[in-house]
Amino acid sequence: MHQYTLAELSQGLAAGHYSSVELTQHFLDRIARLDPQLNSFISVTAEQALAQAAAADQRRQRGEATALTGLPLAHKDIFCTQGVRTSCASRMLDNFVAPYDAAVVERLQAAGMVMLGKTNMDEFAMGSSNETSFYGPVRNPWDLSRVPGGSSGGSAAAVAARLAPAATGTDTGGSIRQPAALCQLTGLKPSYGRVSRWGMIAFASSLDQAGPMTQTAADAALLLQAMAGHDARDSTSVERPVPDYQAALTQPLQGLRIGLPTAFRNPGLDPAVARLVDAAIAELVSQGARTVDVDLPHMDWSVPAYYVIAPAEASSNLSRFDGVRYGHRCQQPTDLLDLYSRSRAEGFGAEVQRRIMIGTYALSAGYYDAYYRQAQKIRRLIAEDFARAFTQCDIIAGPTSPCTAFPLQARQDDPVAMYLSDIYTIAVNLAGIPAISLPCGQDQGLPVGLQLIGPYWSEERLLQVAHRYQQACPWHRQMPSSFA
Ligand code: GLN
Repeated sequence: MHQYTLAELSQGLAAGHYSSVELTQHFLDRIARLDPQLNSFISVTAEQALAQAAAADQRRQRGEATALTGLPLAHKDIFCTQGVRTSCASRMLDNFVAPYDAAVVERLQAAGMVMLGKTNMDEFAMGSSNETSFYGPVRNPWDLSRVPGGSSGGSAAAVAARLAPAATGTDTGGSIRQPAALCQLTGLKPSYGRVSRWGMIAFASSLDQAGPMTQTAADAALLLQAMAGHDARDSTSVERPVPDYQAALTQPLQGLRIGLPTAFRNPGLDPAVARLVDAAIAELVSQGARTVDVDLPHMDWSVPAYYVIAPAEASSNLSRFDGVRYGHRCQQPTDLLDLYSRSRAEGFGAEVQRRIMIGTYALSAGYYDAYYRQAQKIRRLIAEDFARAFTQCDIIAGPTSPCTAFPLQARQDDPVAMYLSDIYTIAVNLAGIPAISLPCGQDQGLPVGLQLIGPYWSEERLLQVAHRYQQACPWHRQMPSSFA
């Protein structure tokens, strides 16, 4: 059963080939047997999953099933889940059991989906390799000596190894798309405001967005349909009707204008990745699309601007973890200041502390104008670059990641090398626009991702183009051999 997509499993459930309880048990068995090699789950919620599956089967018997009812999935451990540990992969929240469900969790549960467990990630979603987790690194199922990407590395590895048919992720600077690329999945970062951030532990609030991580674009459409929509509890959630994402999928590509920015061809790009991305674009052209050159003149400033803005927001968001209300508290504090500083020093890992320090510095009096304000100006210029490009093209295509999955520990001691993993994804978050990564082949057995970027609210278009590509080039059908 695990070789099937969500859409296929949905049909299998509807046809009565198996029950949700059987399906759920199958994935739980795979997790128990295979996850020790990957470390993709922080918590497995077997009992709750089987109860949800039994409820889904009953719902189906009553004739009340939706397309998602009874389908299992895994949630990134950044989403609050009622009664279940929600750790954000940090020692700080190792003992935190959320008192409520995040909006995303709530919506997928309301559709009848079954949660298998919570996936591993970089601590507080800060990283590109899943090595900053308090619970240890995740391994890439395509090559266990390599990283799965991050920060949604657990979600990516779990779906790639078919320990779950789909998972949720979050993307602040690339954390859905980059691990999707490195693990041969489809990962969609929706427009900012499309999916509610309520109950999603905040990293950089003006950039964070939740999205689906699936085998196919059709599955991403299915999940986004249920995830998207207005939520009054998130003040940045946008009141805008959710289109029928399935309906657009099969539209032909005739006349589609694909923008190719020169900025996506910098010297850091692995030539093998470039070749596969070019071949994927050629496939889209053979289906009726045409290419146009576009200019994104401020792309080079996206990583520097992000590493001011994201840490600034993180330093503010993470100030709530003070050892007083919830989370880790140090032993026998001598006074209040000692309680704060020791709890935080013990609870946060090195990368999180680095970000808090950068952010606090950038926001402090005297430096605010020199760093934070400048970064915000760059952010505006980048958003304007994209808006200008989208007067000439419908979507922009390029690589998701400059290279394939790198070996564990290869970049751990070099934060700047790690930060450059997101060189093609970060600008998208700064602009707030949607983008998708989809598999476009392999180099030496390691997956490569094609990134498609669109203007605000173009999720339908991105899913359509990705789906059309996947109809012709079914890379998503391959499974890593030791997990087949
Ligand atoms: N790798 C980037 C960072 O470390 C982006 C992470 C993310 O999207 N959550 O901040």
